[in-house]
Amino acid sequence: MPEVNINHEKCNVTKCGECVDACSMEILKVNNDKIELNHPEDCNLRETCLYVCPNGAINLE
Ligand code: SF4
Repeated sequence: MPEVNINHEKCNVTKCGECVDACSMEILKVNNDKIELNHPEDCNLRETCLYVCPNGAINLE
């Protein structure tokens, strides 16, 4: 199963949110100024979020 990890120290979600819009599977969402994951088991590893994140805050395995 894919693992989606967010480094919350690097993430600047209050000024960004790019990954939420980029993910066609709607796996990333914002909750209380923090990125959270919806059904990460459906991640198709297209890595779109990696390319749009300006802070290198996302890791996929
Ligand atoms: S793209 Fe990166 S910095 Fe922006 S909200 Fe997502 S994880 Fe945070």
